[in-house]
Amino acid sequence: MTRFAPSPTGLLHLGHAYSALTAWEAAAEANGVCLLRIEDTDAARARPEYEDAVYEDLAWLGLSWPDPVMRQSERRAAYGHALERLGRLGAIYPCRCTRADIRAALAAPQEGAMSDNAGSAVYPGTCRGRAMHEAGPGDAIRLDMERALGFLEGEALTWHETGPVHPGHHVADPAAMRNEIGDVVLARKDIGTAAYHLSVVVDDAAQGITHVVRGRDLLGSTPIHRLLQALLELPVPVWFHHELVRDEAGKRLAKRDDARSIRAYREEGLSPDEVRNLCRIRIK
Ligand code: GLU
Repeated sequence: MTRFAPSPTGLLHLGHAYSALTAWEAAAEANGVCLLRIEDTDAARARPEYEDAVYEDLAWLGLSWPDPVMRQSERRAAYGHALERLGRLGAIYPCRCTRADIRAALAAPQEGAMSDNAGSAVYPGTCRGRAMHEAGPGDAIRLDMERALGFLEGEALTWHETGPVHPGHHVADPAAMRNEIGDVVLARKDIGTAAYHLSVVVDDAAQGITHVVRGRDLLGSTPIHRLLQALLELPVPVWFHHELVRDEAGKRLAKRDDARSIRAYREEGLSPDEVRNLCRIRIK
């Protein structure tokens, strides 16, 4: 069981088409099923018209999926339960820092962990140690990476990847998780509004996903997802990271590249097969 999990914050472009085709092919080869999941947790950016366009463009490409489609905006209760569980472990804390606070803390020439982090995007830990019952409505919920790793009691976090980008058996490096990833945000604003890392892990488990097919831009998230699976005692899938479709200058496509949206090619008169071929050409 695999899935294609777009965020409806723009039109699907060639990169999404490639990701979807890769996932559907992987499922077909394994006599499995590819699910569609709408990752619409970002209420400020997700739009119903983009969600409609996802269904329409994928169907136009010749893809089909079982109903009902899981929509993350309807999954607050499940994320809330996961957060409660992490809360009971003492592995999360509420954070009221703004981006500006974090920048200032990272730039300040202070002692200890903060100065080690200067220049990197790792959260400096200002709110670490705040209790969950102190959470205010505007707070983010962060994973306490140090405590989370502590629950593993020295047991290695391992996972397996197939696919072209990073195949093999992998073991997470706890030092890199502390120093390069740190206390990631798991929920925003109020409990139940999950951020990417938490919602993906909870939903992959709920949907019985055995193979996660996705772009190499998400490669660095795998140890975080693996850690959350360990803390929440969820099954561990196999990962398959694929290459990204790039433009002529070698830059990966972004949502703002509307000229390369599936819809734009379709309106230009290209056939589904031509668009399928186009993303394979651009991948080389
Ligand atoms: N929703 C994510 C995206 O649009 C993909 C999540 C995943 O495949 O893990 O990039």
